Amino acid sequence: MQRIWPRGLFIAGLAVAASAGPVIRAQQGAPDAVLTNGKIITVDEKFTIAQAVAIRGDRIIAVGSNQDITRLAGPNTRRIDLRGRAVVPGLIDNHMHLLRAGQTWLKELRFDGVESRKKAIELIQTRAKAVGAGGWVFNIGGWTHHQFADDPRPFTPAELDQIAPNNPVALQESYYQVFLNSRAMKAFGIAAGAPDPPDFVKGSIMRDAAGAPTGVIKGDIAATRPVAARLPKVEASQLEESARALVADMNRAGLTSFGVAGCNQDVLDIFEKWKKQGQLNVRTFCIGGAAAANPEAVDRSVQQIAQMKLFQGDDYIDNVFFGESVYTPLHDPMFALTSSPTADQLTQWRKMAMAIAKAGLPLHVHAELHNTIDAFLDQIEAVNKEYSIRNLRWTLAHVNQLNAAQLERMKKLGMYAAVHPWAVINGGIMHEGFGDGAYDMPALATIQASGIMWGFGTDATAANQYLPFTTLAFAVTGKMPGGMKVIKQTIGREDALIAHTRKNAFLVFHEDDLGSIQPGKLADLLVLDRDYLTVPADQIRDIKPVMTMVGGRVVYDASPAAASSK
Ligand SMILES: [Zn+2]
Repeated sequence: MQRIWPRGLFIAGLAVAASAGPVIRAQQGAPDAVLTNGKIITVDEKFTIAQAVAIRGDRIIAVGSNQDITRLAGPNTRRIDLRGRAVVPGLIDNHMHLLRAGQTWLKELRFDGVESRKKAIELIQTRAKAVGAGGWVFNIGGWTHHQFADDPRPFTPAELDQIAPNNPVALQESYYQVFLNSRAMKAFGIAAGAPDPPDFVKGSIMRDAAGAPTGVIKGDIAATRPVAARLPKVEASQLEESARALVADMNRAGLTSFGVAGCNQDVLDIFEKWKKQGQLNVRTFCIGGAAAANPEAVDRSVQQIAQMKLFQGDDYIDNVFFGESVYTPLHDPMFALTSSPTADQLTQWRKMAMAIAKAGLPLHVHAELHNTIDAFLDQIEAVNKEYSIRNLRWTLAHVNQLNAAQLERMKKLGMYAAVHPWAVINGGIMHEGFGDGAYDMPALATIQASGIMWGFGTDATAANQYLPFTTLAFAVTGKMPGGMKVIKQTIGREDALIAHTRKNAFLVFHEDDLGSIQPGKLADLLVLDRDYLTVPADQIRDIKPVMTMVGGRVVYDASPAAASSK
């Protein structure tokens, strides 16, 4: 069955490219593929809706009406009938700890987007069976119990013992706490009457009045770290398989490009190899550098910064930012409620920032709490008087407490905001800590209204979940997976999509190549199972790509034909 989008169906106010005729960048040769009979949500500057796209090599060569695009096809052109489906640009996450996740992905049990305890329990049971008696069942963040609509309570050891009686189980929710069962506690040497293992943060092993451990390890990233360190790693021989599974899951979710905080070399080497083979299915724009932990280290880092060279890569792998830490004593801990940067710490931070500006490097820096953002802006205003940062795309990252006054200061400086709404999974925890203040974390409507260039990231894979349609749903409804309303400042679905595509292309320095479906840009796009623009808001997080394309290559295909040929 074919369905053509009648022009009258388009909402007033949206420009329609169908009548404008195709714009073809290069004249020679027929396209390799044409996608027709769709609702192409181009996310160009006019938010144009078109019917069809033509692709040659790794680029889009034309966007327009069915008639105009079909006319371009030659005898060898692959024709894809979209059957009325919506198409959007490949989604970009401007800040994910993607490569690090390759080291655990194959062994981790992920709860991203799981909205019921019943489903989570089934997943634990299935994994326990798969790894066999004695095998570890664990995850390292990406969820919290507040997302279980049917039963949003923490797990107890007794419950986990019952679900998986023969396996050690460790479930880390975000970076907030870890739930252990009896076998896991035994494996770690955590017991009534026994002293805490020395590498655990003092007081992080929760105990009842009688001194018996409750199965909960709690107290921010440092508290969860000894657990993660004890869990089994992917072996070196399995690393490529693990990285492949990770990339496949990202493509299935609709993600095609990433700002990657901390590009660990082991997985990066695998990506480089795949790139040479024409098989790299995600674009990786690294955020890295020489963060310092004390004044002596600052002096060393300043010398390294002077030698740093970014932008030596290409459209698939590149280094684009210094970050995400500058001076680690001023790196806001994830669940801290307030911060009080000292003058001495800020002097060191400024020395670093001065060196980064002097070297002409872009900066993407972790800045979360109100006082920290203010203090960083004080330093940046001082730095800017010596070395202009205006064209360096300095970006504050996470910014869940960013307010209107700070946005104005950022705009004056020519800065940008990489918004990572931790509340997508941590909203319940944030409301416990910040009270009603959490309703404005992040202040999405204020950020959007300010006119600043900003885009979405998740900061996944531990601090947050990674599914982009879950982030978009949160932005539009203010709700976590599971339905709990955690922020009040929601935005429209068009603005949300722009922030996950076109604006993010700018925030990873690839606005000429990515972020919209336009002639000349790389052919990164998603065919969706339902229309993002018209589906009820509460169903946005259920949207799934049926096909994902990166550089004109189909990297994910959910069609039954594709599944049966595998
Ligand atoms: Zn961070």
